[in-house]
Amino acid sequence: MNTVNGGISFWYAQEGTPAAREPLPGDTTADVCIVGGGYTGLWTAYYLKKAVPFLNIIVLEGHFCGYGASGRNGGWLYNGIAGRDRYAKAHGHEAAVRLQQAMNATVTEVIETAAAEGIDADVHRGGVLEVARTPAQLDRLKAYHSVEVAFGETDRRLLGARETAERVRVTGAVGSTWTPHGARIHPVKLVKGLAATVEALGVTIHEGTPVTGIEPKHAVTPYGTVRAPYVLRCTEGFTAGIKGHRRTWLPMNSSMIVTDPLSPSDWDDLGWTGRETLGDMAHAYMYAQRTADDRIALGGRGIPYRYGSRTDNDGRTQPATVDALREVLIRMFPRLAGTGIAHAWSGVLGVPRDWCATVTLDRSTGLGWAGGYVGSGVATANLAARTLRDLIQQDSGQSGPTDLTTLPWVNHKVRPWEPEPLRWLGVRTLYAAYRAADRREATAHTPTTDRVAALADRVSGRH
Ligand SMILES: Cc1cc2nc3c(=O)[nH]c(=O)nc-3n(C[C@H](O)[C@H](O)[C@H](O)COP(=O)(O)OP(=O)(O)OC[C@H]3O[C@@H](n4cnc5c(N)ncnc54)[C@H](O)[C@@H]3O)c2cc1C
Repeated sequence: MNTVNGGISFWYAQEGTPAAREPLPGDTTADVCIVGGGYTGLWTAYYLKKAVPFLNIIVLEGHFCGYGASGRNGGWLYNGIAGRDRYAKAHGHEAAVRLQQAMNATVTEVIETAAAEGIDADVHRGGVLEVARTPAQLDRLKAYHSVEVAFGETDRRLLGARETAERVRVTGAVGSTWTPHGARIHPVKLVKGLAATVEALGVTIHEGTPVTGIEPKHAVTPYGTVRAPYVLRCTEGFTAGIKGHRRTWLPMNSSMIVTDPLSPSDWDDLGWTGRETLGDMAHAYMYAQRTADDRIALGGRGIPYRYGSRTDNDGRTQPATVDALREVLIRMFPRLAGTGIAHAWSGVLGVPRDWCATVTLDRSTGLGWAGGYVGSGVATANLAARTLRDLIQQDSGQSGPTDLTTLPWVNHKVRPWEPEPLRWLGVRTLYAAYRAADRREATAHTPTTDRVAALADRVSGRH
């Protein structure tokens, strides 16, 4: 089988890697310096420039805009945010409901803003469908559904096996939950369009410019230093590579495969006419989308973590991971056993020790950051960006607190990860536990979540 492996991602293979923008030419100054040209950095530049057009904003990107997770993800633009339930415990249910409502609105905000700026990112708003394929998964699905409804998602629906099959015929699906707060996107079309949009607004982007140190009021690169009252770290899964941040957010790998385009008769059999983003309730869960050109792109965890917080080599993933993802695909859709896998790749997520996404501006130093989104950053990055805009406007005396600056994830502090080798051993053990639990649940036919998986959740800080 001729599967391309790496090359950043299939999305880039389709769209072409962009011509590089000029690196930083030497020492300079700015009003705001943003480190990282993914969704977080670019949306932040966008909203700041729109709010205060005369701001001098510089984005420093180590490779090219969209090199990271923003150019490699599964294209689920949806309303999930890492840490909501923990924020509910710490700040109360109402505060977490406000956070959830802000996320629901963010899905619409991204769609409408992209359209207003003329960015065609293959958006299809079919909602999110998550299926259960074992009794234990169904039990978790029902509990998950009730929790989401309690957080104000009154438009979410619980579907039985037949109604699920009417949407997508996933073999063995015994039920599902569907929410309208989600859309399928083409990740690279969005990030490329965003970079072009902010540049047209007058934001300066320097690519091929790795930042080696972020200090109050300046960012250091091999080509010079940018001095700015505000320096924002938007580096997500690559954060461990910056001096002083080795233990801040753990770089967790996620890998994807994409099939060749499926035939009309395959689609007749599978359904999926609503083009919902599709996930499951396994502990080592999968996520998928039907692409605009009628392929299935499907992702999940491969080797979750590399020793010493190393990141991948331009998106290459392990052959064993490609096989494992293909098996997931075929278990769900057995008729695709002979379908070619066109491309496989991987990328890194940022995982905080307590699995809670955060957005912060330290008013004493002017340093800001946003991330730790785990696997839910496509929409969350937009909410983070608008929040960073409001925090900077508040700090510089242009406005007071807003609905966004008072959300419970703002200025949240989290302890660092353990040093190696504990970090490596911990994550390896966690994912081995999840995979084993999925296998046991698949054969047990009891509706109870495997005890080892529940324990792994608690020990890892995930729940
Ligand atoms: C395979 C995969 C699938 C995913 N699927 C989904 C999904 O379907 N839905 C969802 O909601 N989320 C998903 N995610 C997560 C989501 O893609 C990310 O949370 C989101 O893109 C993060 O955006 P970001 O801008 O914060 O980080 P990134 O996109 O990673 O951008 C960080 C940028 O910073 C640059 N950088 C890093 N260090 C430096 C430095 N020292 N100097 C200069 N530049 C630097 C990098 O080159 C990179 O371009 C997925 C992630 C992966 C990897």
